[in-house]
Amino acid sequence: MVSIKLSNQIKNNIHHHALKEYPKECCGFLIGYAKDNLLICVDIKNANNIAKNPQNFFEINPQDIINIQKKYRNTKLLVIGHYHSHPNMILNSKPSKKDIDSIHDSNLCWVIVGINNDGIEYSAYMPELTKENTYDLKKINII
Ligand SMILES: [Zn+2]
Repeated sequence: MVSIKLSNQIKNNIHHHALKEYPKECCGFLIGYAKDNLLICVDIKNANNIAKNPQNFFEINPQDIINIQKKYRNTKLLVIGHYHSHPNMILNSKPSKKDIDSIHDSNLCWVIVGINNDGIEYSAYMPELTKENTYDLKKINII
């Protein structure tokens, strides 16, 4: 069972980005490393949300993904996942159907933050192959 470590500083940085883009969804990368069954996030990198309807979905430019993976190729750190926000009246950090349909890399962790005027809620997930050979997102612990 995998867990992800998000320090308060990292959470604050994601919170800040989500507020800045509100009511659009924000998105970005989680940078860090894996140790045993723990993903340790040490930094985040903001990405541009290029979705046509950024209020309801996020999409990262594929070139941004290639660039960031290249950048960390020869370092001890790597892209361990990505995050995006769900700006909603009701706090919701569960993956949408569209999120699940867009899983393209089973090694990347997903952090979803539900955000509204009252607060913020963080959840993390890992892709998991289903019996039907499609992906689902399985909730993992944030420590
Ligand atoms: Zn989503």
